[in-house]
Amino acid sequence: MSADDCIFCKIAGGEIPAVRIYEDQVVVAFLDTGPVSDGHTLVIPRQHFKKFHDCPADLLAQIGSRLGKIAKAVSAAVSSDGYNVLCNNGRAAGQIVEHMHFHIIPRMAGDGVFDRWPSYSYEKGKAEQLAAKIRENL
Ligand code: AMP
Ligand code: ZN
Repeated sequence: MSADDCIFCKIAGGEIPAVRIYEDQVVVAFLDTGPVSDGHTLVIPRQHFKKFHDCPADLLAQIGSRLGKIAKAVSAAVSSDGYNVLCNNGRAAGQIVEHMHFHIIPRMAGDGVFDRWPSYSYEKGKAEQLAAKIRENL
């Protein structure tokens, strides 16, 4: 998906409608049309980047500096008990729209969203092995 046929670029540019809640020169925030909970918001940079790590660090910092303020407002508006900030990267991780974005998902105690978190324990030595491999790739 290039910037030319990107639905989020079109929302950022005002070519297609969205229920906008905040915007400035860096980001646009609007309600997700397929919400997981009331107030489910998407925060996108105006610039098109596919994945989190494609975004330059200074842009990530600028987006990050806005996420807290927007999340606080979303959470207050729906009186949520909490919220998730989520960024899906790649199809395997659930990314459907290939324009990097953050979900802000208001949560209520016991709402059952994301109930299945298939955690497990590493076998002895595996964590250290993985950590070394990750460090090699930094
Ligand atoms: P992801 O799976 O992380 O790529 O999330 C994409 C999200 O974009 C989904 O939650 C969709 O419901 C949402 N979405 C897709 N098209 C639109 C749109 N035109 N306006 C608002 N949200 C949208
Ligand atoms: Zn885009």
